[in-house]
Amino acid sequence: MSAFACPNCGAARTREFFAVDGVPVHSVLLMPTREEATGFPRGDVRLVHCASCGFVANAAFDVTNNAYSTRYEETQGFSPTFNAFADRLAKRLVDEYGVRGRRVLEIGCGKGEFLERVCRFGDNQGIGVDPAYRPERTPDDVRDKVTYMQELYADRHADLRPDVVVCRHTLEHIAPTREFLRRLRGHLEARPDVLVFFELPETLRVLRECAFWDVYYEHCSYFTPGSLARLFRAEGFELLELSLDFGDQYILIMARSADGPTRPSLPLEDDLDETARLVAHFEREAPRQLEAWRARVRGWVAAGRKVAIWGSGSKAVAFLTTLGLGDEIAAMVDVNPHKQGKFMPGTGHEVLAPERLVDVRPDDVIVMNAIYTEEIRAHLQRMGLQPDLHPA
Ligand SMILES: [Zn+2]
Repeated sequence: MSAFACPNCGAARTREFFAVDGVPVHSVLLMPTREEATGFPRGDVRLVHCASCGFVANAAFDVTNNAYSTRYEETQGFSPTFNAFADRLAKRLVDEYGVRGRRVLEIGCGKGEFLERVCRFGDNQGIGVDPAYRPERTPDDVRDKVTYMQELYADRHADLRPDVVVCRHTLEHIAPTREFLRRLRGHLEARPDVLVFFELPETLRVLRECAFWDVYYEHCSYFTPGSLARLFRAEGFELLELSLDFGDQYILIMARSADGPTRPSLPLEDDLDETARLVAHFEREAPRQLEAWRARVRGWVAAGRKVAIWGSGSKAVAFLTTLGLGDEIAAMVDVNPHKQGKFMPGTGHEVLAPERLVDVRPDDVIVMNAIYTEEIRAHLQRMGLQPDLHPA
């Protein structure tokens, strides 16, 4: 057992089950030079599991390593697959939850692409809070609908008085999860009708598939549907929806504040036993998966094959640093033009436009997110390339 107390439920002890040393503390922050990328500060991963609430956390996470800024390039908005998902989700908020003509606050809005969709589709007024916001990315047609605050969410934002609070892919970057939710609940104290929508990565899949590339330093908090629901219920929220989306990679939770703790009622909440079983599975199988990937990639290189990686985000950084690979990868490509020409923390690979693969002519392309495989296959075919694709 570890003496690390659970930041999600307060249980005194947790158990460590996976460790990686020396991973870049940010994996989405891109560097202007290779030297800065390879010299990027590193930290350790010590994944612990809380048997009481099912939460998984990095016990070695140190918040002082965080440096979210405008260099943070998290957008997936250059992928048609991702845009279709974001459109559908924003329309669901408008059509199924009646988010029309409302005041919508998005905590951790990134470049504002989702908030702007919600404002466009439902004629809403948006307020986005995020230190990584970039004003020049906001399109002219929504400038009268959205306001941005380039800062971290804090108590002073309580007086924004939103009708809807959106928080997507943010809570997994926050270590004191219970404290954060308690604070938000406090901000909504006098306003029980506020709709709260959170979206974040689903951890049962990561454990089941031994997806070690989904474990990285920036993500200090790992939720299953049940552990997320337990947190919301304990802190005084009633749940309207708990579901999976984006190829079951993301958890969606819709909630409203309640008078006190609420009781489980939704099908996905009962996952404590399954989580414990999958943690044990990951502990046993992840080291074998790591060895298998290392052998596969080194085998390709030894056979004279050229290997590329498609997708330069956190998954790629985690994939390479966890495996201890670098020079084996001939090219790293990404469809996001804001990433191209910059360098990946850790291995220092320059991120190239996919079109550069015409010169590289890879034999093997590792696809960092399997959901994009067909989109990538079509892209490669348009360039006259037919490498073997390997979804991670
Ligand atoms: Zn716990």
